[in-house]
Amino acid sequence: MGLSAERVAKNDLAFKDANDRIRGAAAGHGIAERVPFICECADSGCTQILQLSLAEYEMIRTHARRFLHAVGHYTGEHEMVVEEKPGYTVVEKVGRAGEIVEEIDSDARRS
Ligand SMILES: [Zn+2]
Repeated sequence: MGLSAERVAKNDLAFKDANDRIRGAAAGHGIAERVPFICECADSGCTQILQLSLAEYEMIRTHARRFLHAVGHYTGEHEMVVEEKPGYTVVEKVGRAGEIVEEIDSDARRS
């Protein structure tokens, strides 16, 4: 399909923002069980729900370039799989897409 690095980075970041709100809500309710997060892949039409514990999701979010993806939701172009877990994969943005997500992430932290 040839999605651009910018497109992949921005789509993934939109899902990441949504998951941030889910994470905040779950943490506020003291939920220790599995929490439904949305797949953060580059397909803007993807609505796959992945069940992770908050701790598992926090682990992914300690790295600005890492994203939560459903198994097989991997374009291979601007990312590489760093972890394969039962039910989900952790993908790391590489090259220009990695730079973009890091830049946007640090901008968000500053504001
Ligand atoms: Zn997906």
